[in-house]
Amino acid sequence: SVSAETKKRVERETKEGIDCRKADNFSAWYQQVVIKAELIELYDISGCYIIRPWAYAVWEKIVEFFDAEIKKLGVQNAYFPVFVSERRLRTEQEHLEGFAAEVAWVTKSGSSELEEPIAIRPTSETIIYPAMAKWIRSHRDLPLKLNQWSNVVRWEFKHPTPFIRSREFLWQEGHTAYADRSAADEEVLQILELYRRIYEELLAVPVIKGIKSERERFAGGLYTTTVEAFVPANGRAVQGATSHSLGQNFARMFGVYYEGKDSGEKLMPWQNSWGCTTRTIGVAVMVHGDDRGLVLPPRVAPLQVVIVPIIVKNAAANVSQVCEVLCLRLQRANLRVKFDDRPEKTPGWKFNEWELRGVPLRIEVGPRDVQSKTITIARRDTMEKRSIQLVDWDALEADDSFGREIAKILDDIQKSMFERASAERNARIRCVASWEPFMKAIIERCLALTPWCAETNCEEQVRQRSMQDSVSYRERLANEVDPAAADTVLSGAVKTLCMPFASELERLRLVDRSEYEAPAPGKQCFACDAAAKRWALWGRSY
Ligand code: AMP
Repeated sequence: SVSAETKKRVERETKEGIDCRKADNFSAWYQQVVIKAELIELYDISGCYIIRPWAYAVWEKIVEFFDAEIKKLGVQNAYFPVFVSERRLRTEQEHLEGFAAEVAWVTKSGSSELEEPIAIRPTSETIIYPAMAKWIRSHRDLPLKLNQWSNVVRWEFKHPTPFIRSREFLWQEGHTAYADRSAADEEVLQILELYRRIYEELLAVPVIKGIKSERERFAGGLYTTTVEAFVPANGRAVQGATSHSLGQNFARMFGVYYEGKDSGEKLMPWQNSWGCTTRTIGVAVMVHGDDRGLVLPPRVAPLQVVIVPIIVKNAAANVSQVCEVLCLRLQRANLRVKFDDRPEKTPGWKFNEWELRGVPLRIEVGPRDVQSKTITIARRDTMEKRSIQLVDWDALEADDSFGREIAKILDDIQKSMFERASAERNARIRCVASWEPFMKAIIERCLALTPWCAETNCEEQVRQRSMQDSVSYRERLANEVDPAAADTVLSGAVKTLCMPFASELERLRLVDRSEYEAPAPGKQCFACDAAAKRWALWGRSY
């Protein structure tokens, strides 16, 4: 039993914990978690954040995975300048229009005005393709597959949110060119599958793959595919990462031509671009975090296991020595483990700190454990505690079954985090066929899957109508029913997140098997009278 004195001390020592609840005030909760778990530090320029080692290590895991996978596909890394001239940026008009409002410009050097302002890349199509035009001469130069790991700057006006929407962010951008259109199309999906794996296999966050509507397509591209994530705690979707087919549009504008194999005529390659950013980290924090702080999936956790000794004065057992052996064993099993032997901190303080920082598994060893050859393990995801019986301290050093057992528990944590997140998300997707249940789903912070005409006009109308309906719903609550609840109604327009691929509809099991490819003939668009052509997933998003 813990004495009142100890309890007080623990409270005093852990005042740095999260002091608001995820369910009560999501955005305050998120701000606290990213700062107190030491993922970011605030900076004096709005929308810019310092990425601290704890978050950078998660990013490195993503980089490690993705970089190895794209190299298997024959992609090579390169690096292009951060600056782009105005002339180049203006080469592709639709592309420029899509980004113009967010471009940051350098206009001065020292105290003198530059002759021509220079833009900081918001993305690098206009920087990379003039170089590609030089490098691609004949069909033998294709496919050309480049990627760069870099930062980009988009001077966003929407409310900034660490990782999710920042003005400078880290990403990879892939830029490829193919002679063969079908090979280019195939790559778009191969990359999208890697993005799915980043979210689902590394971050334990379920996503839905699909194609963007015309309205949401990448500026200047032919079509955009996406992985869409969902944050159940606030009902917002997040565009996880995007893989674009650019068609031949950019090639035409930047003069990328090659000589054909047979005819010798000038041909244009088919191009793709694809990007995934540090947003990934924010999504994982939002989906998995709880009232104690961060919950990190083992595959990306900078530390997977922390060992905390319970030192009791005058106890004979050598707790520290046992902890050291355990630590070594786990290191040898290639696990990321730390023995937290700081003498100045109490076990309670350490428990709180590592829980706040999301370490998936804690091992506790006390004098009694040493005697009974047991250890206590505590899972961060479920907060479940249990003891495991070890064979023999002496045998431990030569025996790798302990490492295997802990690795198995970590795998189990990874798996159950994904399953839990999937179940939570799935419970919040509703298949609806008309306006009323559509708005009900949206107001109740769900995603809506609908039969849709796929017309841009219709999407525009849905945006406006949903905005008006949300406002009047909020007013009705405020005036009549429940004034407190009115404040919790999300505002803002609803948009299409994607038109999910048939394989995703199969995974979701929300529509009949016969309708995976498209809604049955005769079905109407949920929002207008036209015939439904596609399934569309709608929601409010970041
Ligand atoms: P894009 O080049 O526009 O397709 O962007 C690639 C990906 O970057 C998107 O799919 C988003 O997931 C992510 N992204 C876009 N804007 C931001 C931002 N301001 N901060 C972090 N990530 C972003």
